[in-house]
Formats: sequence, C-alpha cells, structure tokens
Amino acid sequence: MGAGPGDPDLMTVKALRCIQQSDVIVYDRLVSDEIIALIPFGKKHIFVGKAKDKHSVSQADINCILVEEAKKGKTVCRLKGGDVFVFGRGGEEMQVLHREGISVDVVPGITAASGCTSYAGIPLTHRGVSQGCTFVTAHSEHDLEVNWSALASLNQTLVFYMGLSKLEFICHELLAAGLSATTPVAVIEKGCTSDQRVFIKTLSDIHAYIANKGVQSPALIVVGHVVSLAYELDWFVVQSQEHIEKLSA
Ligand code: SAH
Repeated sequence: MGAGPGDPDLMTVKALRCIQQSDVIVYDRLVSDEIIALIPFGKKHIFVGKAKDKHSVSQADINCILVEEAKKGKTVCRLKGGDVFVFGRGGEEMQVLHREGISVDVVPGITAASGCTSYAGIPLTHRGVSQGCTFVTAHSEHDLEVNWSALASLNQTLVFYMGLSKLEFICHELLAAGLSATTPVAVIEKGCTSDQRVFIKTLSDIHAYIANKGVQSPALIVVGHVVSLAYELDWFVVQSQEHIEKLSA
C-alpha cells in the first residue's frame, strides 16, 4: 500500500481503510509520523525502515516478516511511502509473496514526483513547455546505468529520486550530455510536509547553492523548464514565502 509522500490527507480512502482493517502493519522510514498516528491503538506494527547505506532490516528479512505474518493467517498491510510500484520494491515483494502462495492486492499512492511537484507549484507537464516527464532513480546497487544523452535529448521534465547525494554528478552528466547550463532545477526537500523546502537554481549552480543549506533526505530533484513555473504557481503557503529560494535572491 502506498501512503503518498507525507501529508496524510494525500492518502487514498482505500489506504486509510487498509490501515484500519488489517491485522499487522509493516512500514518504512518514508511513512510520515502523521500517517503512523492513524494506526489504531494496539494494532501490531513493525518498523522495517531503511536508510541509505544503513539498512536496519534487510530486504530478505522484510520478505520473511511479510511471509511469516501472512502465513499466520493475518491480513498484512505493507505500508510504503509514495507509490509501491515507483522505486518502491512493491513488485519484488509481491513476487516473493506469490511464490509462497499468498495473495496480494495493491493500493496505489501518490508518488513523490507527483505530490512534491504539486506542493512546489511545478506542473510535471505544461503545454508549450514540457510534453512529458521521466522518473529516474539515481540510486543503484552497482554503477548507475543511466543513459544521460537519451535523457538530455528528450527535452522534457526529468525527476530524479534518491539523488540528493549525487546532485553534482547528475548536473555534470546532464550538462555533458548537452543540456543548457541555464536549465532550471528544483530540489524539493521533505515535500508535502510542513518542513517542505524548495530550492530553485540552474543546472550549473544548484549544487553550490544548496551546499550550505543542510538539505536532508528525502529530497527530489526536478530538472526542466517547468520548474520556472513555480514562481507563478507556488501555492503551499505555510512556508513558501520564507522557504522558496528565488533565482533572484
Ligand atoms: N515509492 C516512493 C519512492 C521511494 S524512493 C514514491 O513513489 O514516492 C525514495 C525517494 O523518493 C527519496 O530519496 C526521494 O527522492 C523521494 N521522496 C519520497 N518522498 C519524498 C518527499 N516527501 N519529499 C521529497 N522526496 C521524496
């Protein structure tokens, strides 16, 4: 089940019902505290959060927990941030469960690319500006297998998940692949939460710009001309007047 990017109001009605009706909840680090607070008192819930480079529970152990709980006859809610099928290993976990003869339903959630850009006033597509968008993971178990020249030639919005620590590299590769140095880039930190911060600069200077801002994970990187629309469409007012960092600043 995908819980969306943070704001509990962005969960689906079905997701809320699953939290209320399941017997056990197995949840990740990206699930916000506000969403955890919706778990009914006394219901069994197991944290299996993973942070980059420090896996608290291995994927194999998570799989075991899911299988074990299901085989006890429990209805298990596997609660993840965003959408389970977007860089969420939802497919992998489902394959394991199917091999064990356990049936699985999927509850989609709002993925970070959609939620965070909406809360930053950045449309993923915009007529005359970008005809499409591509989601890319900047994390890999081994070498990054990204076709930079293909991405650069799309002339569309690019959204990088898990890219914060590789921001400089991503910008460098896109520049080398031919994107203009003035291409706007947004880094959205803790999107869709009351801690959201949005930093906007260009491919050539975003890395240096956020270097001393203490930006923390989770953060999403958005590359493309749609980013400039944030100056006009930014609406998430709680902190945007203070936190959106204008190009002119
Ligand atoms: N399944 C999730 C993505 C998991 S990968 C989804 O569909 O959203 C984890 C990455 O997602 C993070 O490193 C970050 O790049 C992005 N992300 C998830 N939630 C976010 C948030 N609230 N704000 C910014 N980025 C977020």
